[in-house]
Amino acid sequence: MIRNTIINKRRGFTTLEIKIPEKESGRFLMGFTLIELLVVIAIIALLMAILMPALQRVKEQARTISCKSNLRQYGIAERMYLDDFEGNFPNPWFWLYSGGGNFEREDTPDGPLWPYIKDKDINLCISFRTIGKSMGRDPRYSYSTNGYLGAGGYFKGNAVTNESEVKHPADIFSFSEENLWKIPGLSGYTLNDNGLYIDPPPGIRDCFATYHNAPGGDREKGSANLVFVDGHTGMMKAEGQYDGGNYEIANPKKRDVP
Ligand SMILES: [Zn+2]
Repeated sequence: MIRNTIINKRRGFTTLEIKIPEKESGRFLMGFTLIELLVVIAIIALLMAILMPALQRVKEQARTISCKSNLRQYGIAERMYLDDFEGNFPNPWFWLYSGGGNFEREDTPDGPLWPYIKDKDINLCISFRTIGKSMGRDPRYSYSTNGYLGAGGYFKGNAVTNESEVKHPADIFSFSEENLWKIPGLSGYTLNDNGLYIDPPPGIRDCFATYHNAPGGDREKGSANLVFVDGHTGMMKAEGQYDGGNYEIANPKKRDVP
């Protein structure tokens, strides 16, 4: 290499010119030695290792925005429904399917809220679909309604039937997401119907999803998206669900929270 390297000194600058011969001794010479090639590969691998988590985070943020957009439309659909039905919430079991739902149902929903949604594309969170597929499931929808809203709610003694009974509509969620797996100490059920039923503490029934923006990829430490009765969207962090934090935003009466 040295014999092909010319050092130019002019005007106070030093430049190196490296001439690589096209042919020598009848064969092509490679531009890189094996060591140089390995160094380049190592640098690319290092850059990939640095950039991939960042790319994953950007991807998840885009999915989170899309999911929130879905829930915002759910909020609008429910607003229209409440306006048409004198403020009475639909039954939390049967708002999507008149006979009750399961998240892998393929038939068109026939529940009372469906005419206000009428768009299958907003029924499924992309993050949830990706997780579901990785678990061998085929999710069609991913959103559940608050089991404390609507006649026929699971906790009939606590459920309200009319929006006038929700004194703080910005604090009570109307739709959110659930996991496909149980979390010890937080949930005793997975997503299995159309309702999200938070037990009064210290009871354990459903919990909000924990997979959005999961720190370090730990799907039990992330957040759920939700839309509140007043129509604004927000997030519920996994850590905020313990000690009755999930119940606080579920039951409009909150009378069992100390
Ligand atoms: Zn989501």
